[in-house]
Formats: sequence, structure tokens, C-alpha cells
Amino acid sequence: MEKSRLLQLAKQIEVCRRCDLYKGAKNAVPGEGNPKTGILFIGEAPGFNEDIQGLPFVGNAGKYLDNLLTKIGLSRGDVFITNMVKHRPPENRDPSFGEIAACNAWLEEQLTIIEPKVIVTLGRLSLNYFLPNAKISDVHGHPYRVRNYIVLPMYHPAAALRSMQITTELESDFQKNLELLNNPDLSKHITESYQDSGQASLF
Ligand code: SF4
Repeated sequence: MEKSRLLQLAKQIEVCRRCDLYKGAKNAVPGEGNPKTGILFIGEAPGFNEDIQGLPFVGNAGKYLDNLLTKIGLSRGDVFITNMVKHRPPENRDPSFGEIAACNAWLEEQLTIIEPKVIVTLGRLSLNYFLPNAKISDVHGHPYRVRNYIVLPMYHPAAALRSMQITTELESDFQKNLELLNNPDLSKHITESYQDSGQASLF
């Protein structure tokens, strides 16, 4: 049921013209994975390889993400992966505020269909969609309740490929949240919000 609704949505995304990003892109990248496990990963935007294949996280950063998942006993088939914008920005630049705002409706439809328990934000853009004032250096690795979800901010895997310090922190954040990511039902025990505490949330 979810899969067919997501396929239908992907067809709408393929012909979307709400912003100009489609003009320079070869393919839309709506997202892929298992919509039933309760875990949604949200990155920033498709890059070169993603644009060619129409699939999210298939370049070096994607291979590294697969590796991070494997280390905590998961695979790509155990999560659903998407991005804030569904077409590649030219030269891999960050999507603009207007482009993100234009694409939000697709993300919201994916949230409605998937009903994730845990949302892992990869990088600053998806983090600030759910926690607008948060700094990734302050909140990474800590789960927070936002709307009906637990939002777990993480550094973007591409940032980890550029910095050993971020690699260490990202791998540690995955390990720290191994239990939650393997059992998203644990999310119901997480009660603190970023706005309330400004600190790490607790089980
Ligand atoms: S990036 Fe999003 S809003 Fe812009 S054309 Fe693609 S699907 Fe539509």
C-alpha cells in the first residue's frame, strides 16, 4: 500500500515544475527503500551520481552511508532514504531557501505515507527543517521529539568524507543510537524536545 502510493508520488515528482531545478537535472530522485520500517533518512539534494541513476545516496557518500548502516546491523533495505529537494542543483550547490520551500510539499506527502517513527536528518538543511534554530555541532547524535516524530540529527556522510573528526563523530552517533535505529518503537519513550531542554534528549 505504502509502496504503491510512493510510486504514484514518484511519478508526480518526475514531472514537477515547481522550481527551476528540474531544468538542469537528468532525473528526479524521489527516494527509495522500505517505507514500513519506521525509519526515514533525509539528506540535502541529489548529486552527480544520484542524478544519473535517479536514486538517492549512490555515490561515495552513499557507499559510506551503506557502510555506517552495516556497522549497526542494518542495510539500505531497512530504511527509506530521500532528500530535501528531489532534483539536483547545478554544480552540486546547496539548494536555495525558495527551492527547498517549493519541494517541501513532496517531503510532507512522503511523511504522510511513511509515518516514520524516527527521522534521521543528514546535514544542516534537513536538520533545520525540523529544528529551525539548531546547530548541527550542538545537537548531532541526540534524538528529539518533533511533531509526531523522533528527529535524530546526524552529520552528512559527505562531510565525514572530508573530515576525520566528523567521521569519528558520525560513527559514534550511529553506535550511540544503535538500539533506537534497530528498534524504532523505542522512540515512544523519548519525551524531551530541543526547545524544552536545549540539551541532549533522554530515554
Ligand atoms: S526540486 Fe522539487 S520542487 Fe523543484 S522541480 Fe524538483 S521536485 Fe519540483
